[in-house]
Amino acid sequence: MIKESNYVSELNPKNEIDTLIEYATTEAVPIMDKISVEFVKQLLRIHNAHNVLEIGTAIGYSALHFASVHPNIQITTIERNELMYQQAKKNIQDFNKQHQINLVFKDALEAFDEVNHQIYDVLFIDAAKAQSKKFFELYSPLVRTGGLIITDNILYHDFVGNIEIVRSRNVKQMVRKIEKYNTWLSENTDYQTNFIDIGDGMSISIKLKGE
Ligand code: SAM
Repeated sequence: MIKESNYVSELNPKNEIDTLIEYATTEAVPIMDKISVEFVKQLLRIHNAHNVLEIGTAIGYSALHFASVHPNIQITTIERNELMYQQAKKNIQDFNKQHQINLVFKDALEAFDEVNHQIYDVLFIDAAKAQSKKFFELYSPLVRTGGLIITDNILYHDFVGNIEIVRSRNVKQMVRKIEKYNTWLSENTDYQTNFIDIGDGMSISIKLKGE
């Protein structure tokens, strides 16, 4: 919930799925903020996306939102934490979205064979932040030319670009990795990438060439 404007948030469409925000807040589960999730949904609509691959399900909040864009959109989402996976499974059933969401319980670094039976319009990276580059490299071949790769939290609480204010060594290490990833993305000529200051920061890369 970073840089969240209540006014703008309130203007966005209301959705039953937002009842999950309370659970996420109480249980300290990091999920997308409302403005970012609505922004990505609008990209899915503009892009006429039919197949989305998400890395990092948590309780299924973003996957359920993406599935709400239209009845023909299919979401494949990968989660490695069993508690999160069980909660996501329950939420997907409660919202009756099993037919649209394929939930994979596995470490995403080892799940390629489970999800490589198809090509995706959009890859959404929202898992361990220090590993975004690994996820990008592993799964970008599954994205069609012209497809999108969206990475969340590229500013990580505004520590990215401000590493001098970070005290913890572990956080510093992670911030350095995110900075490296952002630079690598900005210089990668196979993709056209924009970095935007929405929520916790997001990059949107358009795949220009096939693998
Ligand atoms: N996308 C979710 C949403 O907005 O509703 C939030 C995802 S949360 C920020 C990140 C999730 O990624 C956590 O539940 C964590 O367990 C999971 N995760 C982290 N590293 C992972 C990995 N290597 N493979 C699969 N899941 C991973």
